[in-house]
Amino acid sequence: MSQSALVVFSGGQDSTTCLGWALNRFDRVETITFDYAQRHRIELQQARAIAEKLGVPNEIFRTDIFAQLADTALLDATDTRDINAAHHAKPNLPASFVPNRNAFFFTVAHAYAQKRALDTIVTGINQTDYSGYPDCREPFVQSLEQALNLGSESEIRFLYPLIRLSKAETFALAEKEGVLDIVLEMSHTCYNGVRDKRHDWGYGCGKCPACRLRAKGWEEYIRMSNEQ
Ligand SMILES: [Zn+2]
Repeated sequence: MSQSALVVFSGGQDSTTCLGWALNRFDRVETITFDYAQRHRIELQQARAIAEKLGVPNEIFRTDIFAQLADTALLDATDTRDINAAHHAKPNLPASFVPNRNAFFFTVAHAYAQKRALDTIVTGINQTDYSGYPDCREPFVQSLEQALNLGSESEIRFLYPLIRLSKAETFALAEKEGVLDIVLEMSHTCYNGVRDKRHDWGYGCGKCPACRLRAKGWEEYIRMSNEQ
């Protein structure tokens, strides 16, 4: 049975929930965070702060290459295109899609897990809310896991506890794992980097797609809680 885990940690709602989930299941937990061009500094600060609060190591990897590779709405904060609009070259995918991004992140995580002798990688990928991202789907992660293990003679498992959860169910899981307060007070998902507006569901502008998704999930979670 696995005893140690590396959580791919953005400091957002999903990966904070995953971190709580992992801390309740593994003896040793570490986190890695990717610093890439389109991220707000605030996301990195919140990731660092949450890791400190929960007492887990947090290694930050700089991945500037996405500035060169990406051609998306998320890259540039001044870009006003709807991130859910169609990708210009791949009409089936949202404009925010960055090819091979998760493949790259998970490859780095897999290498770092070997360096730190961690036998499991936990990611918050989810195919429910943003089903437009093909690299958030289970068959992709399973095949990458197999390829990376073959390529380094290792046996590291990928776990993704949120894969089929709605945002409301993710709030419920955060509560169950004892990290709901941290999700609300510290996790950051707002695309506009807003931290000075507190809503029932946490901090953010309240208008961007990430805030709207989170707010909608919170409403459903409250409704679910009241029905029980
Ligand atoms: Zn927002």
